Order: sequence, then C-alpha cells, then structure tokens
Amino acid sequence: MGRALIIGAGGVAGVVVHKCCQNSEVFEEICIASRTKSKCDALKEKLDGGKTQITTAQVDADNVSELVQLINSYKPDIVMNIALPYQDLTIMDACLETKTNYMDTANYEPLDTAKFEYKWQWVYKEKFEKAGITALLGSGFDPGVTGVFSAYAAKHYFDEISEIDILDCNGGEHGYPFATNFNPEINIREVSAKGSYWEYGKWIETEPMEIKRTYNFDEVGEKDMYLLHHEELESLAINIKGIKRIRFFMTFGQSYLTHLKCLENVGMTSIIPIEYEGKQIVPLQFLKAVLPDPASLGPRTKGKTNIGCIFTGKKDGKEKTYYVYNVCDHQECYKEVGSQAISYTTGVPAMIGAMMVMTGKWDAPGVYNIEEFDPDPFMEALNKWGLPWKENFRPVLVD
Ligand code: NDP
Repeated sequence: MGRALIIGAGGVAGVVVHKCCQNSEVFEEICIASRTKSKCDALKEKLDGGKTQITTAQVDADNVSELVQLINSYKPDIVMNIALPYQDLTIMDACLETKTNYMDTANYEPLDTAKFEYKWQWVYKEKFEKAGITALLGSGFDPGVTGVFSAYAAKHYFDEISEIDILDCNGGEHGYPFATNFNPEINIREVSAKGSYWEYGKWIETEPMEIKRTYNFDEVGEKDMYLLHHEELESLAINIKGIKRIRFFMTFGQSYLTHLKCLENVGMTSIIPIEYEGKQIVPLQFLKAVLPDPASLGPRTKGKTNIGCIFTGKKDGKEKTYYVYNVCDHQECYKEVGSQAISYTTGVPAMIGAMMVMTGKWDAPGVYNIEEFDPDPFMEALNKWGLPWKENFRPVLVD
C-alpha cells in the first residue's frame, strides 16, 4: 500500500514501529528518523526480516530544511510525528512544503511556556486544504481514542451529549519510588499545571490536583483520580455539539504526588533556565536526565490501565448514560512489543490513525482533530490491533 516516515525513536515510536511492521500490508516501507540515529538503528535491528522494509535516518526535527530534504528523498505518503510536541509546527511546515500528509499524538507546546493549545496548529487549516493534504491531530489514546469514543457515542447512541468525563487510570506498578510513564519533561509540565474543565461555554480553572475523586475501575479496582486540564477538552468542547461539561481525570498514587510536590517545592520542575557553574540549565530538563527512562519501565511494570469516557445525554427524549473504555495489561504489552502499556496505548492508535489516512478511509484536505472523522473504521481497527474496548450502559457516574 504505502510508505511512512516515522519521526522519533523513543518509547511510543518503538510501539509504532512494531505495529507498522505487524501491519505490513499497509506499511510496506517505513523510515525511522530521529535526532539520535543509533536509536533508530536499534529498532530496525529488532524488526528487520519481516515484510516491511525498514530504513533509518538522522534528522533534527526542529529544522524545517533538514526535514524537507529527508521527505523529498524518501517520498512518504505520511509523516508520523512521534517526537515531542515542540516539533509539531516545524514538521507541519515541512509537510506543507512537500505536500505530504501529517499526523501526531500531542498538540504543540512552545519550549519556553508550559501551555499546550491547538490554536497554533488550527491556523494551518486553510494552507493544508489548499495543498490538498491532511493533518490528523492527536492520534494517541488521550488525545486520540478518547475523541474517537466521543464521535462513536455521538454517532450511535445519543441525539445530544451533555456531559463527558474522561477517566485515565494507570493501575500499573513499576517499583520505583518516582518515575513517569512517558517523556518526564512533558508529563511533569502537564500534571503540575493548573487544572481546568469546560462548563456551560467557559473554562473553569482549578489549582493543580485540587479536585479529587475516587473511582472503582473495571479490572483495576478503586483508585484516587484528580482533575487535570487535558488537550482533547479543547477540541471536544467545539466538535461535540451542544456539550455542556467536559472533565478529565487521571489517577495518581500517593508516592508519585508526594515526590512531585517535593520536587516542585525545591524548584526542580521549573522550566525557567538557571545558571549553574557558568552554564544555563533548565531544572526540569536536568530532572529528566536523572529520572528513569520511561522506555526502561517495560520489564518492571505490572498491572493494568483502564482509559475511557463516560457520556451522559439524551436519546429519543430519554436520559441515557454510556461508558466505553479499554483495559490494557502492562506485561502483555511488554511480551508483544517490549514496552509498557502507556507507550502501547499511544503507539497503537498512532499506527491506526496513519493507516486511516494512507488507506483513504479518512480523506479530507485540511487540519482535523480525530473526532471530526468517521469513528467506525477506527473502532474496528482498535479491536483488531490490540486495544479492544468494552461498553457499559449503566456506569457509576463521577459526582
Ligand atoms: P520520548 O522522549 O521517549 O521520545 C521522543 C523521541 O523524539 C526521542 O527519540 C527523541 O530523540 C526524539 N526527538 C526529540 N526532539 C527531536 C528533534 N528535535 N529531532 C528529532 N527527534 C527528536 O517520548 P515518548 O515516546 O514518551 O512520547 C512521544 C510523543 O508521544 C510525545 O509527543 C508525547 O507527548 C506523546 N504522547 C501522547 C500520548 C497520547 O495518549 N496522546 C500519551 C503519551 C505520550 P532523542 O532520542 O535524541 O532524545
């Protein structure tokens, strides 16, 4: 069928590469390109020998002309941005210049401000339309599958959705006192920011971790969860018509929170550079360097994740509730692709999103959030490619 250029060679990219190779009918050829080429070569070595032809390349994705050169020489059908949110705009620029489809798993965030928003990427809409290419934004799990779940609920079960609660539970234990499940810098920026939710047309801001609830998750058990701001809230508030409230909750253990508070209190989570022995360093970047690499958590992590959405609304004039979620086992993921479930639950939807664009199932020039496309083929692919979902029509609601 085609050829994909995968940018990044970290925890999530490792899963993407495995999944593309499993799906060699669609991904006949892939090129893994990243800043550190040895990581791309290591992935190629693991997976070479199958039907998918793998090549590797070195690229600085902050540099548009380097990207353009690579895209022009490889001529992919799609560029899969599995690097970091900081690279979104440079990769989109290179895709525009070369008229190549684009997808990512996280929205743009400037390096010097902890503020992720879609506005920077949404302004590309007209340019992508004119170039006749598609940009698919946020094709991970959250954002990603949570948007697909929302589009699916709206299409099949509701005339009107009034509330969405997104619940992201990680019941996994890695045995370290403190480690993050994906890129530590991005993760800590996200969880130390103020919380917020959407209600009656406006954002309500909360202090970080101010709102706490307890929920009994299927196959995991009871966990404390906290309200966070999360990027899909921004697009769902616009794309799910008539929505009155959307909230996002994530579970955290007490050890994680205690460590985070302490690191915050001593200034280690700051993104403002300081001078140390004549050199400028960013405390959070230094912290990342001393924390366990998320990619190394795979063999140690046991337990399950449970991520999904609870919808309330109306169908045929009657009140209705619906909960759709996926449960994923860390050890099963490790057995299959050598990664824990957080990378797995992001990498599988990234592969599926690229497949939707490459196969023409999702075919519209412009810049789109995932919930703007037909959810049905994606939902089917989730069952096939390792993230089967479950439904519950009488869920316990979050107060
Ligand atoms: P990692 O830090 O493990 O990997 C990032 C990769 O990007 C590394 O290989 C890194 O290279 C590469 N990279 C960074 N900067 C550049 C650059 N300038 N040029 C080329 N390559 C670069 O991160 P993860 O794999 O954990 O996360 C990947 C993405 O997935 C992130 O954007 C994250 O926000 C997103 N994510 C999305 C989720 C979702 O559900 N939607 C959930 C979890 C993550 P090097 O090895 O040299 O450092």
